[in-house]
Amino acid sequence: MGLKLYNTFTRSLEEFVPQREIVGIYSCGLTVQGAPHVGHMRAYIVRDVLVRWIEHLGYKFLSLENFTDIDDKIIEKQLQQKRDWRVIAQENITKYLNAVDQLNIKRAHFYPRASEHIEEIIHLVQELIDKGYGYEKGGDVYFKVRKFPDYGRLSKKSIDDLVSGARIAPTEHKEDPLDFALWKAAKPGEPYWFSPWGKGRPGWHIECSAMAMHYLGESFDIHTGGEDLIFPHHENEIAQSVAATGQPFVRYWLHNGWVTLSGEKMAKSTGHFFLIEDLLKEYHPNVIRLYLLKTHYRNQIEFSSERLDEAKAAYHRILTFLSGFKVLPVIDKPLMVDEFTDAMNDDLNAPKALGIIFDMVNKGYDQGDPQIAASIKIFLGILGFCDEEPAVPFSQAMDVFREITERLVQEGQDELIEDVWKKFYSTIEGMKSMEDVFPALVGFLLDIRNQFRKNKKYEYADFIREKLAQQGIQIHDEGIDRSTFALEIK
Ligand SMILES: [Zn+2]
Repeated sequence: MGLKLYNTFTRSLEEFVPQREIVGIYSCGLTVQGAPHVGHMRAYIVRDVLVRWIEHLGYKFLSLENFTDIDDKIIEKQLQQKRDWRVIAQENITKYLNAVDQLNIKRAHFYPRASEHIEEIIHLVQELIDKGYGYEKGGDVYFKVRKFPDYGRLSKKSIDDLVSGARIAPTEHKEDPLDFALWKAAKPGEPYWFSPWGKGRPGWHIECSAMAMHYLGESFDIHTGGEDLIFPHHENEIAQSVAATGQPFVRYWLHNGWVTLSGEKMAKSTGHFFLIEDLLKEYHPNVIRLYLLKTHYRNQIEFSSERLDEAKAAYHRILTFLSGFKVLPVIDKPLMVDEFTDAMNDDLNAPKALGIIFDMVNKGYDQGDPQIAASIKIFLGILGFCDEEPAVPFSQAMDVFREITERLVQEGQDELIEDVWKKFYSTIEGMKSMEDVFPALVGFLLDIRNQFRKNKKYEYADFIREKLAQQGIQIHDEGIDRSTFALEIK
């Protein structure tokens, strides 16, 4: 089975057959009026998994992501903050690219900015006017929606549905409420470019058509974006591009679900969001990636810190397992590779692929097989997790240890403390590297817990269990628990 992708255009799972040797991929980028939130980053992690997978399958690709750096909201910020729109845009672009790098997202090959492609945009608008799809009024240029018979095909909306919701704002000059702006005349004090229709700036939709076709050609393979962009943004991109060229624009439309907060879309406009820079202060990038990939990309994710903490625990369980192997064997073919490939080929089913990884972790704890660890490492790399030294879980195991001794001190259990520390020293005696110490430390903690249980000091035993669980190490009295882990990954 080859790769199958769910195409929003046909609302079906389709086999992926690229039209050219180099797969063209366009992703709608940010309107850089503010710092990115976790909902934004999800779209680019999804694109990252896509490009890593198609690269793994042997395809070459060219990926493009725009920055909308000139738009009503940025102009509004300029007026509010009394700072130039270019400075505001650059500040947010820098923040965004920092987050991209931290999250180990492969950068797009090009990040074109709308403001740097005014020439291509004007050219496209003129072409639409020449072909009768565009008209100028009062310095604005609009697209005649009724002239494009396929309008609404992507979003499955009929002209009748659209008519009832359409309005003409008092500042607009359009002839039909359905029409949308290709070019906007500048109001006093606004940034502008010279054009055949006077001073103005591009509309939002036209920039994506112009830049996508400039870099990828009139027809290309994959266009990605959040599902909120299906209408009107992507519908308008199709109308403009197809009307201008007479060619099909995009072959596969991929849309990811929103990240919601109390059921509502995370959005800057409502003040309803978590900034990625804040989240990255609290969680390792791999934990955020795991959290987002645990849900299929087409489904919505309700943002929750509990779920993030669960992802953290799950991720540390993988790390704990891997840290038990000092050197991993080089393997040609990972174990479970067929199952993993089938999952990824099935519309990038990352949750299923992660389920396979967690099954292997469980098996690995039983069997201690370095082949399993080597296979897991390969799969994590394909899913875009960055390499990490086991130093973090070691310090976390040390935290558990510290908390336990602190509690014993508070409760005046001097004898027990002495006992615990003696055991600790004898456990790590002779060990040279941190990698050796970490699994030993976990083993030691389990050991002293058993000791507490034997001596009927259940409150300490439970305390250790609880602390280890917070670090992703689940223990039940029959041993290390393996079931909860697999169940977490749905
Ligand atoms: Zn776009």
